[in-house]
Amino acid sequence: MNKLAYLKYWLANQGYAEKAAVQSVISIQFEDEDSSGQFKNVPHAVWVEDGVYYANVDGGKMSIEGDIERPLFEMDDFFEFPADFHPVLQGKAVGSTFGLMLFNIILFWEVFGAKVQYVNRDFTKDLIQGLLRDLMVDNPEEGQEVPEGKASVDDCMKFTRHCYFLEGLGTYFVKPGGLDTLSLSPAILKRKEELLKQLEADGKVNDPVAFTKMLEELVEMDRKEQLSGPSANFYINDKFISNARKRMFLAFGIEPNPTGDGWVGLPRSLDQGADPEQIVTYINTAVAGAYSRSMATGEGGAQVKDILKLVGRRRIADIDCGTKLGEIVYMMEQTYKGWIGMYQITEKGESVLITPEVAKANIGKVITIRSVDLCGTPEGNYCQMCSGNGLGKYGNRLSAEVVRVPTESMLRRMKAAHTAGSKTGRMNLATAIK
Ligand SMILES: [Zn+2]
Repeated sequence: MNKLAYLKYWLANQGYAEKAAVQSVISIQFEDEDSSGQFKNVPHAVWVEDGVYYANVDGGKMSIEGDIERPLFEMDDFFEFPADFHPVLQGKAVGSTFGLMLFNIILFWEVFGAKVQYVNRDFTKDLIQGLLRDLMVDNPEEGQEVPEGKASVDDCMKFTRHCYFLEGLGTYFVKPGGLDTLSLSPAILKRKEELLKQLEADGKVNDPVAFTKMLEELVEMDRKEQLSGPSANFYINDKFISNARKRMFLAFGIEPNPTGDGWVGLPRSLDQGADPEQIVTYINTAVAGAYSRSMATGEGGAQVKDILKLVGRRRIADIDCGTKLGEIVYMMEQTYKGWIGMYQITEKGESVLITPEVAKANIGKVITIRSVDLCGTPEGNYCQMCSGNGLGKYGNRLSAEVVRVPTESMLRRMKAAHTAGSKTGRMNLATAIK
């Protein structure tokens, strides 16, 4: 049986209902009791026997084509899916990957059915937020129905449960790196030697600008090679290259000297081992990175608690405080969606709901929008119209939503402490002096 035919059978029979069955098709198996032996007992899992992939198809054992040195399916395996492949395609043939097909079915088709079209692109935060914003309506009252094309809050919570189902499988979704991730090409090492010799000749090994410039050139060479090589999909974050690979294979970097009045260039990579002459600098760098980071984490946590205490008692106490004040907002193509569900104060002083149509019509204009900052409800509470439809609907649950505010501020604080290494940059003199 070929792969595509098996995938069609597997999806039609909800092979993904068991997490272990998903694991069996996306991981490399060993032909022993602990690996393939276990999968034999899982409904709709595939297993390896005598160097061949097998599965139960319509009650009989069936071999499936595929290289057992690789997972049966990888996330970016590309297929031309015919229109009748699965109902998720809603009758349209599409060229897409195994990963997108799997995620579309588990996250969208199983939850929302035909209300969501097949998503043939990256699943970004904006995409998911936008989808839920368009779909979600209140749970229907008794005897009422959810409007056509919409999904109730309960349905949308099902989406979250399906996301949880995929949790833990993340290690399989990222392609493992190949041997190329464990070394550096000779051309880059040769260039490093040349540049370092030049720095030495110029007496600039301890010059932060010159040293960092050298490193940036080398990191860029490495980045180009890695991202066009066989492990390109392994790098889900640039830090793997700009920080981890840099320190591991290129050079430790340039760090403040022990007396704090200058710099020490550390051209040896971790791979080459630490320079015993500079051990104080290495330790100082490690302590500086570790201590400030843990302090900021602790302080951030305490601040979050304080902020939560302050906002926790706030609630939506009024329908309309009647304020004529609002925030002045310039509506842009890139951001107009964020204002949908809020209230606009018109020139006549009336407050009108910003529907998707109203928001679009206002692109390029400056408008006044009701804001909790300017709400006139007494005792620090808010009214529904200043809060907008999102927050305003959850009268007593406001504090749950507001948790995001201190959380975001804590993340920002922690991020600020996660600085490592040095960088060169260009600055305009007028801005720098200002
Ligand atoms: Zn108000």
